[in-house]
Amino acid sequence: MAQIDDLPPLREVIAEHGLDARKSLGQNFLLDLNLTSRIARSAGDLSDCTVVEVGPGPGGLTRALLAAGAKKVVAIEKDTRCLPALAQISEHYNGKLEVIEGDALKYNPAELADGPIKIIANLPYNVGTQLLLGWLTTEEWPPFWSSLTLMFQKEVAQRIVAQTGDKAYGRLGVLANWRCHTDILFDLNPKAFTPPPKVTSAVVQLHPREKPLGCPLKALERVTAHAFGQRRKMLRASLKGLKPDAEARIEAAGLKPTARAEEIDVTGFVALAHAFDKD
Ligand code: SAM
Repeated sequence: MAQIDDLPPLREVIAEHGLDARKSLGQNFLLDLNLTSRIARSAGDLSDCTVVEVGPGPGGLTRALLAAGAKKVVAIEKDTRCLPALAQISEHYNGKLEVIEGDALKYNPAELADGPIKIIANLPYNVGTQLLLGWLTTEEWPPFWSSLTLMFQKEVAQRIVAQTGDKAYGRLGVLANWRCHTDILFDLNPKAFTPPPKVTSAVVQLHPREKPLGCPLKALERVTAHAFGQRRKMLRASLKGLKPDAEARIEAAGLKPTARAEEIDVTGFVALAHAFDKD
């Protein structure tokens, strides 16, 4: 792909603004225009929604989102060195890009836009999972976002989509699949990034389920934390710290106290959350 807009090539932008990548900010910049455009396209029609992007960096994905017709992009970036490059993009796209300088962990994306929101980001690896968990565990459902299209290290992507029987199955898989349909869309070779990370990355997409199983959220978070915190132990041991009568509660959920966390599917965890939510 030759160009997606008339702005300078990303390598020039990085050199001009001295944006040498910082490990502490999880900076691995995606400069391949075919890939940034592919991520933007995979999120579907962007013309009727606000895209919230975390960590635009020099703006490679941001430009692809705008070139793909996003109505508006609100981008949260912690690294102030990136702001002049992002201001140039905003000007080029007639203000369709709004940049917020700060830590994405401190923002609720629901408050950054009126109307439908899609979150699309190449997430910094050090806060990616924490951000995702925040977006997955909102009290209201359906949530404020209609889809999440996110790049993670492949190992994290596999944990998000994992089901019982998968090696990567754990707490993240339960919390994601309880409420969402999850898919890995494609992998990205480390060579696509500057600097190249040590591991392969993958783009994951999540869509809210229309009718997730009713479940006390806090109890589900507690039960999965205990059960997978000691995943080799039987449930009767790993959940004992939650309630003294754990064994009876596991049985009330229709499960065997001798089962281990990795054998329990999402429906089983929902039943456990109900059983452990009672006084
Ligand atoms: N979107 C760019 C791309 O695809 O090339 C950059 C992605 S890079 C993996 C992650 C970006 O997130 C960096 O620009 C980094 O400065 C930014 N970042 C790191 N921690 C952040 C935080 N807590 N809040 C907002 N941005 C953050």
